[in-house]
Amino acid sequence: MSLKHEFEPLERWPAYRGRPLLVCGPCSAESRDQVYLTAKALVENRKVHIFRAGIWKARTRPGGFAGVGLDGLGWLAEVERELGVPVATEVANARHVQSVIEHGLKSLWIGARTTASPFAVQEIADALRGADVTVFIKNPVSPDVDLWQGAIERVREAGIERIAAVHRGFQKYGEDRFRNAPHWQIPIELLLRLPGLPIICDPSHICGEASLLREVCQNAMDLAYDGLMIESHIDPSEALSDARQQVEPSKLRDLLDGLVLRATGSSEPSFQRIIETLRTRMDDLDGRLLEVLQQRMVVARRIAQSKREQNVTVLQASRFEETVKRCVSRGRECGLSPGFVRAIFQAIHQESIDQQREIMNEKWILDDAALAAAPPKR
Ligand code: PEP
Ligand code: MN
Repeated sequence: MSLKHEFEPLERWPAYRGRPLLVCGPCSAESRDQVYLTAKALVENRKVHIFRAGIWKARTRPGGFAGVGLDGLGWLAEVERELGVPVATEVANARHVQSVIEHGLKSLWIGARTTASPFAVQEIADALRGADVTVFIKNPVSPDVDLWQGAIERVREAGIERIAAVHRGFQKYGEDRFRNAPHWQIPIELLLRLPGLPIICDPSHICGEASLLREVCQNAMDLAYDGLMIESHIDPSEALSDARQQVEPSKLRDLLDGLVLRATGSSEPSFQRIIETLRTRMDDLDGRLLEVLQQRMVVARRIAQSKREQNVTVLQASRFEETVKRCVSRGRECGLSPGFVRAIFQAIHQESIDQQREIMNEKWILDDAALAAAPPKR
């Protein structure tokens, strides 16, 4: 089944009030008062379109606060009824889904640890079949776009159309200023694969620290994200989970009011003209880049021929190291970041290796013309 353009556009979502869609609330529901007071403050500040609070918390290690469970569903239903704001909570299995639906909630999210498990996601998708709900699907903890896409497809194939992906960052190893590495290229790849899918950023779980939120929120807005899921607690210092990354509702208001919101396009004629000229130039440069790469591969294939004659291995690690070093330093002079230059040359080198392996294993010795023309067999 093709999923193209089959997600309900955000503009048609009942909760949508314009960009960014705001899904805000505490990490966990802790008490009736904490839930109600947080929701009330967010509603009064007009900084919530869908209120969030977790009642079943997947803690990485036992002993952490595991959530208040079913009691919390009553508190959430009360918020929805009395404050008139839709409410979402996290589900991790079919039983959770049934309870959420029984309590009349219409929004839920699948957490990062659950998205990583296709069995769990399928069980949730089956339990959702036929329900009129909004489903947010967080990225899996590992930087794996296929797992994320798979979870979205499972829910979509269960007949749910109102789906948004939530980018909450990916597990990292070692110290970093972020709790979870953003890897912004992964959600971009997901959107290329699933056009029309709304995407929300969860800066709270990316940052792990309230002082970093503004930077990540602004970045998400500049990348044209549709919304933000942000953790907010009436008294973060007392929070039972994720205390450092939660912000008080008034601080959240200031943060959101300070964001620069840019349009996702403009029909202004002079802007259109300039962009068109520059894009034509860019397309031309892309064509030239490809030609240069093609020439480089021809050289690589000639080298392969010589290696073959001398029975020398394809991979020459020290030569590659030198090349990267030289290019990183040249790149720096050209204003290109070392990480970028390294990544580009790693990709180019991999293609060279692949093409050289083909030449080495050809049945026939190729002449120069054949080497120049040899199309990749992959
Ligand atoms: C949460 O939203 O509180 C949560 C546990 O998120 P994640 O699944 O992204 O860790
Ligand atoms: Mn949390």
